[in-house]
Amino acid sequence: MIKPVLVIHGGAGAISRAQTTPEVIQAYEDALRQILTEGERILAQGGCALDAVAEAVRLLEECPLFNAGYGAVFTHDAKHELDAAIMNGQTLQCGAVANVKTVRNPILAARAVMEHSPHVFFVGHDADAFARDQGLACVDQSFFSTPMRREQLQAAQRSGNETIVLDHDAMSAYQTSEAIAPLDENNKMGTVGAVALDCRGNLAAGTSTGGMTNKWPGRVGDSPLIGAGCYANNTTCAVSTTGKGEAFIRAVAAYDVSAQMEYAGRTLAQATQQLIHQKLPPLDGAGGLIAIDAHGNVAMPFNTEGMYRGSVVSGQAPFVAVHR
Ligand code: ASP
Repeated sequence: MIKPVLVIHGGAGAISRAQTTPEVIQAYEDALRQILTEGERILAQGGCALDAVAEAVRLLEECPLFNAGYGAVFTHDAKHELDAAIMNGQTLQCGAVANVKTVRNPILAARAVMEHSPHVFFVGHDADAFARDQGLACVDQSFFSTPMRREQLQAAQRSGNETIVLDHDAMSAYQTSEAIAPLDENNKMGTVGAVALDCRGNLAAGTSTGGMTNKWPGRVGDSPLIGAGCYANNTTCAVSTTGKGEAFIRAVAAYDVSAQMEYAGRTLAQATQQLIHQKLPPLDGAGGLIAIDAHGNVAMPFNTEGMYRGSVVSGQAPFVAVHR
């Protein structure tokens, strides 16, 4: 009898320089716990890993604390360009969208690409149009905007047009309109993600992001790239990453974990440690990941000061954490 497991993240980054409060930490932990509980319910009822992952990521997108969907960061020209990917470890089917601007839940658009098109990856206007044709909710760009994200953009632009900032990095200095988040909002990679193992032994992974504050229009990070920010294969593992996307792309990060397990016989713990603490740092690859293997082993390593993360084994109390 396989015990289903769900793992989620809300981005990695540096700890706020300014003082956060226990109440704010509590708000982040409560949000993670709530989302884990809702995703776990799907798995406990015999639902598949893919459904649990899609729902957990959708809920993370709907939560303004995290940089995906509602609450996504701004590009250099004050727009939102969202990326997402999902993968089914049983079939190796996958779907992704990048640079979407109107679909409310990019993870659902990624899933629709996987399930209702012969393709894997749609970008830009056509990806939005596809999502609309699929009956997914579409919204005005302003839906995604929050005052905190606008302040982050203004702060990044004040410190130089070339400054491209990871979501939770260094926001503390600028956080005037809202309480200080536990991870520094300008020094955190605010991508969200989920990985799951269901009662039939199937794995799935999903990742969704607003990208990086002040990113150049058209820039796409690792999150929607299968093998970089998202990967699932029943024979090895399911992985969702968060961090400096350019480095994670160069390392082919998510697939690297799977390949180490497949070709070098490494355990999930060994493979994820190798990637996060040895391979990525020389590439300027600040960040972390969540991963699960077909036996239900979980890894949540990060090389930053913290990562919003949590896991739940079906029937047990959820674990959530922000700092080390
Ligand atoms: N990996 C994401 C990107 O580069 C950023 C993040 O994790 O927050 O777009």
